[in-house]
Amino acid sequence: MKKVTGVLAVCWLAVMLSGCQTTSSSKKSADSQPLSSLPFVSEVSEDTAAGSSRQPLDASETSMSESGDTADTGMKESSVPVSRVLESSVPVSRVQESSVPVSRVQESSVPVSRVQDVSVTESSVPNAQVSQTDVSQVSVPVQESYVHEISVNEPSVTEPQSSVAVSQAELPQVVGQPIVDVYTPYTAARLQRDIDALCRRYPDLVTQYTIGITAQGRKISCVTLGFGSKKGCIVAGIHAREHITVSFTMRCLEEFAEAYRRNEPYGEYDLRQLLQVYTLYFVPMCNPDGTEISVNGAQPLVAAADFSPDEYKLNGNGVNLNRNFPYNWEEQYTHQTFVAGEEKYAGDHAASEKETQAIMSLCEEEHFAWLLDMHVVGNGIYWRDEMNGPIEGDSRMRGAITERCGYRYFGESTDVTVYSGGLENWFRYAYGKPAFCIEMVPYEQSGRVSTYIGMSSFFEEAVNWPQTKYTYLAAMDSG
Ligand SMILES: [Zn+2]
Repeated sequence: MKKVTGVLAVCWLAVMLSGCQTTSSSKKSADSQPLSSLPFVSEVSEDTAAGSSRQPLDASETSMSESGDTADTGMKESSVPVSRVLESSVPVSRVQESSVPVSRVQESSVPVSRVQDVSVTESSVPNAQVSQTDVSQVSVPVQESYVHEISVNEPSVTEPQSSVAVSQAELPQVVGQPIVDVYTPYTAARLQRDIDALCRRYPDLVTQYTIGITAQGRKISCVTLGFGSKKGCIVAGIHAREHITVSFTMRCLEEFAEAYRRNEPYGEYDLRQLLQVYTLYFVPMCNPDGTEISVNGAQPLVAAADFSPDEYKLNGNGVNLNRNFPYNWEEQYTHQTFVAGEEKYAGDHAASEKETQAIMSLCEEEHFAWLLDMHVVGNGIYWRDEMNGPIEGDSRMRGAITERCGYRYFGESTDVTVYSGGLENWFRYAYGKPAFCIEMVPYEQSGRVSTYIGMSSFFEEAVNWPQTKYTYLAAMDSG
């Protein structure tokens, strides 16, 4: 019996030693594994898309004098931002140049209290159609990637650089895939996820805060970029179905932030210089209720006549927000319709809507040098109206933006029953500063908005991204 026990003991010892060896070997293997072979670190995403099949909108139905109208289409799986740890091919010198001097950050005009307002919970967006089952982790190959200084807690661009020379091998990088996907229409929830991601990736440079809550309980977010004392305001997506302006604006935001961080020019523009002079205030989705109705099939609070989600232009209350601002509003109201849910409905009274009030409060607080209101159909700029007359700087800015970005410009707006209640018209009236309604897509291309999903050519051709991506920079440069 003792002999048997002794044999068992020997066997047990042998097994244990073998196990230890295996464990030790595995650990050594992991330790010596190059960083580039480690698994992806995926950010969590949700896809709120709902598939649908939609018909293109006939551009001829759109009035020249009314801000652009296009239809939108179904959804596809959203791509997932991915961060990955691997060795960088970017020279150390470039990385060292990309840091932001502490002094610049200290000059930021954004109150700390606002910067801290970055969290969002789905409970604050009651109508957002997001479920846990939509959350997935996906491994996506790293494509043309952004290079980041490595830090588990996301690098801070404010960190001062060490004067000690570091070899490239000692300076591993975090490479992240672009966050913004312009080929999937933004829902309110996905927009907030991407804004959060941009704030994490570019802390201090990009900040956000909430400027209002809609009638259906969704946040209206404002995103700031830059450190300058001069301020420009950019409003996108005020008309629900024109949500491609949301995608466009978000892509601009991300590319500007990345170019700034890398200390690289963007086209002929020196972003570091411009964003030392300016802080841009983006309201990338001014009408989240309407966008959810248009993109996600959510329901408005007021039944709209001949309601069609992909052609829905209004907010959750059935109000055309671009006719709700307090500038000759009575002209708009008495000459159009009194029925909520109809496309030209201007509201019960001027500034009746939460979205309108949010933009007005933002403008009152920040004293913008100019404002851009982004729309879709017409490939041109509405830049002046008869009642406001010429405004100092409007001609200069109009010229710079149209020349750089390939837009045409329309004549002075003369029909007060059309332009009254408009955002840019109200801004000119209230502040005497330049404001422009920019229609991004040519009439003949507007039908393609409804089928742009997955079409890289749409952004290149119809939105004319290679030129229009300079819109906000040309405004800063000339404003
Ligand atoms: Zn519009």
